[in-house]
Amino acid sequence: MKYVLVSGGVISGVGKGIIASSTGLLLKTKGLTVTSIKIDPYINIDAGTMAPTEHGEVYVTDDGGEMDLDLGNYERYLLTTLSRDHNITTGKVYQSVIEKERRGDYLGKTVQVVPHVTNAIQDWIERVARIPVDESGCEPDVCVIELGGTIGDIESAPFIYAISQLQRRVGKGNFVQIMVAYVPVVGEQKTKPTQRAVSDSRQSGLNPDLIACRCEQPLENSTIQKIANTCQVDEKQVIAVHNVSTTYHVPLLLDKQKLLDTLWPLLDIPSIHRSPEKI
Ligand code: ADP
Repeated sequence: MKYVLVSGGVISGVGKGIIASSTGLLLKTKGLTVTSIKIDPYINIDAGTMAPTEHGEVYVTDDGGEMDLDLGNYERYLLTTLSRDHNITTGKVYQSVIEKERRGDYLGKTVQVVPHVTNAIQDWIERVARIPVDESGCEPDVCVIELGGTIGDIESAPFIYAISQLQRRVGKGNFVQIMVAYVPVVGEQKTKPTQRAVSDSRQSGLNPDLIACRCEQPLENSTIQKIANTCQVDEKQVIAVHNVSTTYHVPLLLDKQKLLDTLWPLLDIPSIHRSPEKI
């Protein structure tokens, strides 16, 4: 199983969901089976009780799960059928840990965020990533995980800890992180918020392989060079995502910047054993 983590910095609503869906779609065009998981670090069990005026409409999965709208993007972009378990919230993780504690499953141990909650998060991700989600009925090759919120939020901390452990465990060639940052335009395109977001992510144990920069206008070459230099990455690791008239243009935008060429070696794709009928 290969994992692509899409996280966000600077502000929420920066376009993580669209970039996660679009990346999954590009991988799918190469014949890979792609699934997705959305992590929402809030304490609500699901979006069913949240005000649509604040959070957008609820998206209902086939099994009746009341989910964040992003699950709908994933199903539409990737032609998959997801379940309520494909949306992980802090509330769901704590509920499962507390149920286990009440059953006595921890055998008298003190139940703590580390390792009990963080292990529960990893187990959940690894279990759900394997569920077949499309007509092929095959176990997916790649799981795109979108981490909601922004890195640095207190709420995200157990998820970031769990995901960095997962990254170490699955090893190089099986995990890629795309950080989505925002480049505001105040007379000129400002790169400082992106630099801070990348630095925060590294401090928390996740080193972005790709930095996707959302900006209201096309990114200038000098902005891309500055982000590459200050974040110490190659220019090809900086992906520009400007505002487009419809979000269905975003996969084309990523494709033009040869996102797959950069992802391919990082994910060690040729090592995936694939049966001919899946291609
Ligand atoms: P996040 O997952 O970071 O909260 P979303 O992917 O849900 O962000 O996007 C937030 C909003 O911005 C949505 O309404 C989406 O349609 C819009 N959006 C995302 N990317 C773009 C883009 N490149 N151009 C125009 N609108 C976009």
